[in-house]
Amino acid sequence: MVEAFDYVIVGNSAAGLQALQTLRKHSTHASVAIIDREDHRAYSRVLTPYFVGGKAERDHLFIVDHQFYDRTRVTTLFGRTVIALHTDDKQLELDDGRRVTFGKLLLAIGAEARQLEVASDRSSVLRHMTHAEQLVELMLKAKTITAIGAGLVSLPLLSHAPADAEKHMVVGSNRILSRVVDAEASAILEKRFTENGLQLHKQNDIVAIEEREQLLLRLASGDTLSSDMLIVGKGVEPNSSLARAAGLEVDYGIRIDDYCRTSHADIYAAGDAAEGKDFISGEPVIQGNWMTAVEQGENAALNMLGMECAYAGSLKNNITEIFGVDIAAIGASLDEDERSVSTHDQRTGRFRKVFLNNKDQVIGAILIGETNDAGVYYKWIRTRSHFPGKQVLYGTNTYAAFRQRMA
Ligand SMILES: Cc1cc2nc3c(=O)[nH]c(=O)nc-3n(C[C@H](O)[C@H](O)[C@H](O)COP(=O)(O)OP(=O)(O)OC[C@H]3O[C@@H](n4cnc5c(N)ncnc54)[C@H](O)[C@@H]3O)c2cc1C
Repeated sequence: MVEAFDYVIVGNSAAGLQALQTLRKHSTHASVAIIDREDHRAYSRVLTPYFVGGKAERDHLFIVDHQFYDRTRVTTLFGRTVIALHTDDKQLELDDGRRVTFGKLLLAIGAEARQLEVASDRSSVLRHMTHAEQLVELMLKAKTITAIGAGLVSLPLLSHAPADAEKHMVVGSNRILSRVVDAEASAILEKRFTENGLQLHKQNDIVAIEEREQLLLRLASGDTLSSDMLIVGKGVEPNSSLARAAGLEVDYGIRIDDYCRTSHADIYAAGDAAEGKDFISGEPVIQGNWMTAVEQGENAALNMLGMECAYAGSLKNNITEIFGVDIAAIGASLDEDERSVSTHDQRTGRFRKVFLNNKDQVIGAILIGETNDAGVYYKWIRTRSHFPGKQVLYGTNTYAAFRQRMA
């Protein structure tokens, strides 16, 4: 059986959902289908660490209501995996044998968590709802929890785990959040997290797991750790094999141009699967954040509708709370981004660092301890604004400076 649609979206998450809403906003009559191998409404992956730690109900993860898809008049093919993309006849092959043809296609198929070579029934990554559900079960009984990888999945998971659990983290490098913040901010955060009970095992790895009453984790250093469960947070890999097999241009992710178009004129990609231009460096990148997926999903949909509309490029944009510490890292904010101004109030723990280019335009910011003005820094970066001066780092006058500049 072959079904035909004007627009087909694969992936019912940040990028796909935004594309669907944008398509419907501008085209009430076109036929649209959305396909996802997960068999439920769209949910926020960002909130899953709260669910795992018992701080949010499963029902609160969903970002659309039950009627959303009917209201949007979209054909849902949930619980179905796209196993092949045939570009010549613009056709998708599903795992139940069904075939779907498209006028325009959006691949919003995200990424998968990297697995550890050694595994156990008491270990899991966190990417999909099934992982979250497995981790909930494991965490209910856990008195000692270990995570490997010190990024934005493991740290929030440990942070939201029950307060009375013993928490260990095995880190390959010599610092935490090395892909998110610079070394100075990383050291500040490490101090705050370890004061909150996190036990770090840096420059280390898990080389073997022995199944005993507790898991016995053998570390590369020769040490061992006994733990009731293991969280694997070793980063993600974009879902690019479908596109690669179809002959689309794929580097690390599916390559897209400034219109979120792939190397095929009628096929677009967005979000964690897509490799597009970074707003600051102009280099191809996968940002791996929710906001980029939404922006690219919207841009792809506008272009699928024929409204030629260039996307200026994606930005790193991580705003989170870990072990009670508010953190924002926006734009360029790593060690190689050398020009910066900063302030650190040792008494309150409030840290702000702004990264500048050689024209003194703001290209990035790290905020620790207070992030409610993160949107102002985001806007400064997006508008390539000049930094108003170090005084804005000291207090709440960021808003005043922003308003003055925008007036
Ligand atoms: C635990 C966790 C915490 C996070 N925290 C943050 C945060 O604090 N801030 C932030 O900005 N970002 C965060 N992220 C990242 C954010 O969730 C992603 O950037 C975002 O979900 C990317 O959206 P996407 O639509 O590109 O892809 P995804 O959300 O990965 O969705 C892709 C969808 O495509 C489906 N799919 C894939 N292949 C196929 C196929 N062949 N057939 C059918 N369906 C398919 C998948 O089932 C999935 O539903 C977090 C992610 C995780 C896992």
